[in-house]
Amino acid sequence: MLNLFDENTFDSHLPQISEQDCTDQQVLDQIWELKKELQDKVILLGHHYQSDDIIQYADITGDSLKLSQKAAQLNNPYTVFCGVHFMAETADILTRDDQDIILPDRNAGCSMADMANDDEVHKAYDYLTSCTKEKIIPITYINCSAKLKSFVGKHDGTICTSSNAQKIIKWAFEQGQKLLFFPDQHLGRNTCYDLGIKLDEMVVYNPHQVNGGLTPEQIQKAKVILWYGFCSVHQGFTKEHIINIKKESPDTIVIVHPECSFDVVQHADDSGSTAYIIDQVEKAAPGTQFAVGTEINLVNRLAQKYTNKTIKSLSPYQCLCTTMYRVRPRWLLASLNAIKEGRAFNIIKVAEEDKHYARMALNRMLEI
Ligand code: SF4
Repeated sequence: MLNLFDENTFDSHLPQISEQDCTDQQVLDQIWELKKELQDKVILLGHHYQSDDIIQYADITGDSLKLSQKAAQLNNPYTVFCGVHFMAETADILTRDDQDIILPDRNAGCSMADMANDDEVHKAYDYLTSCTKEKIIPITYINCSAKLKSFVGKHDGTICTSSNAQKIIKWAFEQGQKLLFFPDQHLGRNTCYDLGIKLDEMVVYNPHQVNGGLTPEQIQKAKVILWYGFCSVHQGFTKEHIINIKKESPDTIVIVHPECSFDVVQHADDSGSTAYIIDQVEKAAPGTQFAVGTEINLVNRLAQKYTNKTIKSLSPYQCLCTTMYRVRPRWLLASLNAIKEGRAFNIIKVAEEDKHYARMALNRMLEI
């Protein structure tokens, strides 16, 4: 086994494994060897949006909550999370203190989660609560930082996933009169609309504008305040993509993720979480044609698995989550090698106070 880093680099969040040291094939082979050798110590989680060269090694695949919950049920001291930063944080919140969560590349973030930072969130909440006497319940989509999860836990709010968003929003309106929804405006708008809330009862708080770009009157009138955040992958799908597909092939079923814009969800035949999309494709009769509006790795994997159906991406362009793609086999190998040598790095640890309130918010969600 090659020594993949020296004393000066082992602590780095980007271990150097040069192509001169190790060819791509050697990297892949060594991961299999190490995975076998460390099977009692390490569990490897792969998010649905990971590329095949990573997902092939995953012991469990799924969405971020399912993966974190599974990790919490296991006894392996190390969980290597092939996903993005907020997912590794969620796993750390839910697992025991003696379990270490490792993100092979610490730079694997999520552009949506980064759109709601702690200072902006506090500033917004102070302004919004100063404008109205009505109780505002903060809800965050699970795709956010541990700090934001902690914030909603502390302020009588909770967390939602794309599967349970309707249930959680209904609950929020039983607790207060207004909803503040972080960080994905599209999931918030699409779900609230399905629950009968009109578009003119929703406003968008943009942290890059003075007072979020909202007057006290607008806030008093609104039922829902949506944070100005979005997923750059899902926002890439457009209404025109659907119109073109339907022109070419009217029988194709267009199914999209609710992180897509309102226009796209309204024009699609169906929408739902990643788990829902997988389920619909699986259940469909042979010969069914789908155009899917979600991350390309998942769409390609569905197409490879269900060869008796036609499955393609809704967009002619590659809708790839580039931050997820930062977890490459070389970083995975470096992570496993470091565990073997007793010097694991890129261990994601959430501060105790944030962990406490974030766990409170997650437990609240699970109870609902
Ligand atoms: S697909 Fe979008 S929301 Fe999901 S990790 Fe990538 S940037 Fe974040």
